[in-house]
Amino acid sequence: MKRTPLIAGNWKMNTTVPEACSLAKAILAGMEPADGTETVICPPFVSLAPLHEVLAESPVKLGAQNMYFKPKGAFTGEVSASMIKPFCSYVILGHSERRQVFGESNELINAKIIAAVEAGLKPILCLGESLEQRKAGKAVDTVTGQLLSCLAEIRQTSGLVIAYEPVWAIGTGVNAGVDEVCQIMQALRAAVAGMYGTGAGEEVRLLYGGSVTAENAASYLSQPVIDGALLGGASLDPDQFTTIIKLAAAAKNI
Ligand code: PEP
Repeated sequence: MKRTPLIAGNWKMNTTVPEACSLAKAILAGMEPADGTETVICPPFVSLAPLHEVLAESPVKLGAQNMYFKPKGAFTGEVSASMIKPFCSYVILGHSERRQVFGESNELINAKIIAAVEAGLKPILCLGESLEQRKAGKAVDTVTGQLLSCLAEIRQTSGLVIAYEPVWAIGTGVNAGVDEVCQIMQALRAAVAGMYGTGAGEEVRLLYGGSVTAENAASYLSQPVIDGALLGGASLDPDQFTTIIKLAAAAKNI
């Protein structure tokens, strides 16, 4: 099955609104028109509305970095699916920084995925093992266990994107080996097929994230089982980000 390659940029807690607008414009200036890949930018919440204007005539889509699962109410500091939906096609859920710094559990992430799907947002579900889990030979079990828990009670996976991001590779400059990533991707695709059928396993897009750069991106993107990348640091550099988009187009022969 042909899956559209996806390059997503997670800007994390970086860029003021003017900086975000400048960065988005620099990315647009460096992109090839309609290269057959899909590009998503995930800026801080406050930049979603302004970037929606900046990107209006462009193929670049917006994603949020998080959301809460309740529709509204006394949840100070939180943002609901209906608040981001006017601007976003995607929402990153379960990022390891949310899990580690803010204590998010698989159960909470599951509730968020259910709310995102109900609102018509496509979740980018992040999964990944710690260094201890990898060293103990538990990487596949950890990641497939996270998948099962995060997708509990979810009946269909249309539009779902899964980002495999080993915790030890995020922001460390230590990217995972291509063979290690492919092994996890195959296990994830098989797990999705086991839960939702062969078609869903074929259809789901799998991204690798963790210290991806313009130098190492092609080694992942050339693998048939990997459909794209979730970029942190490299997404803040317009040259690297647009180079990686072009590498994705080339690697997937579009
Ligand atoms: C991320 O935050 O999702 C990420 C992959 O970060 P980096 O590319 O900087 O490792």
